[in-house]
Amino acid sequence: MLGSGIAKGMIETARNFVGSYTDESRLVTVEYPEERLPLKEATRNFPFLVYDGEDAAPGLRCVACQICEKECPPQCIYIIKDAAKKPDYMGKMQFQPKVFDIDVSVCMSCQICVEVCPFEAIKMDTEYELSTSDRFDGLLLKKEDLWKSNEYYQKIHPTEATEVDRRLAEEKTKAEAKAKVDAEKARAAADAKKAATATAATPSAPTSPAA
Ligand code: SF4
Ligand code: SF4
Repeated sequence: MLGSGIAKGMIETARNFVGSYTDESRLVTVEYPEERLPLKEATRNFPFLVYDGEDAAPGLRCVACQICEKECPPQCIYIIKDAAKKPDYMGKMQFQPKVFDIDVSVCMSCQICVEVCPFEAIKMDTEYELSTSDRFDGLLLKKEDLWKSNEYYQKIHPTEATEVDRRLAEEKTKAEAKAKVDAEKARAAADAKKAATATAATPSAPTSPAA
C-alpha cells in the first residue's frame, strides 16, 4: 500500500518517543558531549607511538627503521633518524627517531603502519576529539603528541596489548638465554686457547743420548 513504509516508520518513532519516558533502552539519542557511548575494543582512529616505563623519550619502542614511513599509502609519516642510539627492551642498541610526524589530516586510518612495524612501536589510538581551528599545523602531530604509555595501550586495547606484552617478554627471555649460552661458549673457547698457549710455551724435557 502506498505510504505504508512511512506509516511504519512514524509508528516506530512514536513508540520510541512515548516509550522513552518509561524504558531507558528506547532512548536512542546520546547527548554528546555530556554523554559518550563506550568505545569498542577494536575502535581505531589515528596511530600513536608506544613507550615503556615512566619516561617517554628513553622508553619509546620506535627504532626509526622507517618501514612504516615507506609503506604508508598516502605518505603522511615523516621520520628523521637520530644519530645517537639507545638500548631497546632487549638491551640491544638501536636508533631512535629525532623527528616523527604524522599528518592526521591525510591519514586514512588504514593501520598498515601498525601491521608492518616489527617492533610493536606504533598502534591505533581511539581518540577522536581532535578538531582544531588550525587547519595546517594543528593536525600535524609531532613525536611528543604521538607518544603514549604502554599502560594507555593496555587501557584502550587490553586483549591486543596483553598479547604483545606476552610476546615481547617471551622474545626477551629467549634472547637472554641465547646471550648466556653464547657467553659460556666464548668463555670455554678463551679457556681452551689459554691452555693451548700455556702448553706451547712449556719447554720440552731433553732427550738422553743413545747407549
Ligand atoms: S594508518 Fe595508514 S594512512 Fe595512517 S599513518 Fe598509518 S599507514 Fe599511514
Ligand atoms: S614505528 Fe615501527 S616501523 Fe615505524 S619507524 Fe618506528 S619501529 Fe620502524
